[in-house]
Amino acid sequence: MSRYWSDFVHSLVPYVPGEQPKIANLVKLNTNENPYPPSPKAVAAMRLVLANKGVGDEMRLYPDPNSDVLKEAIARFYQVEKKQVFVGNGSDEVLAHVFFGLLKHPLPILFPDITYSFYPVYCGLYKVPFKQIPLTDRFEIDLQQYEQPNGGIIFPNPNAPTGVALSAKAIEELLKRNRDSVVVVDEAYIDFGGETVIPLTKKYPNLLVTQTVSKSRSLAGLRVGLAVGHPDLIEALERIKNSFNSYPLGRMAIVGAAAAFDDQDYFNDTCGKVMESREELVKQLQALSFHVLPSAANFIFARHSTQGGQHITTALRERAVIVRHFNSPRIADFVRITIGSPEQNAALVETLKQILSV
Ligand SMILES: *Cc1c(COP(=O)(O)O)cnc(C)c1O
Repeated sequence: MSRYWSDFVHSLVPYVPGEQPKIANLVKLNTNENPYPPSPKAVAAMRLVLANKGVGDEMRLYPDPNSDVLKEAIARFYQVEKKQVFVGNGSDEVLAHVFFGLLKHPLPILFPDITYSFYPVYCGLYKVPFKQIPLTDRFEIDLQQYEQPNGGIIFPNPNAPTGVALSAKAIEELLKRNRDSVVVVDEAYIDFGGETVIPLTKKYPNLLVTQTVSKSRSLAGLRVGLAVGHPDLIEALERIKNSFNSYPLGRMAIVGAAAAFDDQDYFNDTCGKVMESREELVKQLQALSFHVLPSAANFIFARHSTQGGQHITTALRERAVIVRHFNSPRIADFVRITIGSPEQNAALVETLKQILSV
């Protein structure tokens, strides 16, 4: 606290990210990073920037403020127009611009009671009124509950931290009935078995889809996120971006993320491996008496039949395995476990057996 602060800073409640430990050799399954390295083509493209080999690719110079090379790669990948694409410094930054530029209205926006905990933080920062809609008893988003007057709707698909996904058809039903406000679908985890609604952005001018290269493209360290929607929605985001930071993406981020989108084979291969590991881990946890919510993400949300979530998280941590626990109503019994490499998953299961003495 300081008397030099702007007034509103005193009441800010910031987001608390998962721990990034400074010690090596931990089995790190707490922040949904990908266990596989990024595409070798992405790494090679970034090396070229540093080697100063490309035309005008010099770190001495500012990057392209519009990140055209990256927007073109994304537009190719999803078969949309370049003017339908917005990019930012991680999808967290993209989401911040979305809350400020598309969701700040007199009516409250709607999002689930159990969801990405950054949403209420943006509402606090930008003074966006909101109303939380409870998940069902099975931890599903019930879209019928969102059919009420609102200033906008946002939810992740699959939802976080549950991993439970909605079908594209169910989302289209909501879009048919909710025409007067923006519907934002946060597809941070869509590539692990969900169905993207990006194609629906051509049909519904109020649909905005956000994604990230942090999870399915193994580039959490690069900080690149994106949004796809009608050009009018994108223009609002560009206006905010150009009033905030003209160069949110550096040269490495622009070419690295573009090369990752162009390397479809590597992407399919690594996402496939993560999904296979997930199915195996689910079976192993069920055998240890965990109830696991059906996941279409690169993490699972699981509750043990007798041991609490805090206890399991602490006991794992003492044995150098880190997972995420949320001390909130309804989900305090759960742990969220990122799908790791086969070796990491095996270490997790072995450690759980020790803790549960089975
Ligand atoms: C990880 C995550 C993000 C943020 O991704 P970045 O691009 O790394 O900022 C956004 N939404 C959800 C639901 C996430 O889990």
